[in-house]
Amino acid sequence: MRINVLNELRQPVGTATVFDLAEPAIRLEDIDISSLSGALTLVRTNRGLLATLKASAIASENCARCLIPTDCAVPIEFEEEFIPVLDASTARRIRVSNSDDGFRIGPDFMLDLGESLRQYMLMLEPQKPLCRPDCVGLCPSCGADLNVLSCGCTPTFDERWGVLAGLDANIKEGS
Ligand SMILES: [Zn+2]
Ligand SMILES: [Zn+2]
Repeated sequence: MRINVLNELRQPVGTATVFDLAEPAIRLEDIDISSLSGALTLVRTNRGLLATLKASAIASENCARCLIPTDCAVPIEFEEEFIPVLDASTARRIRVSNSDDGFRIGPDFMLDLGESLRQYMLMLEPQKPLCRPDCVGLCPSCGADLNVLSCGCTPTFDERWGVLAGLDANIKEGS
């Protein structure tokens, strides 16, 4: 997800440019995105470019019930300022203070959204994707995929109710 922004950096402060994104598979270290589409807006700031990404990604995650890999749509919306290391007009190195840990645009003037996108995806609330809304999941006793076969184990459902019934009895005893 690298975009040449030399032209955008040469615009006056406040200039906005919108890019339509339609990215095929993106691999960001530990995150697999099978597609991403949306809009990237770059606004020239006095230090660099303010990037606003509004997109929808399809990421591969495991079904929360049966664990098979499942495509799920992840809405993405974030804003990040990118500061160039070189001045786009004079090619002079721009001093940036060490305390400033924002994203940089390298000397090739390519803005790389990859790392900010990765950090955003990691920050997202853990989701509970389902391969289908009525997925019945795995048998808690033998691990069989109950979507595919019926294993014949006694449902643990009864045990759980048994525990609750026990609690109920204790409360009554105490009173
Ligand atoms: Zn499932
Ligand atoms: Zn079973």
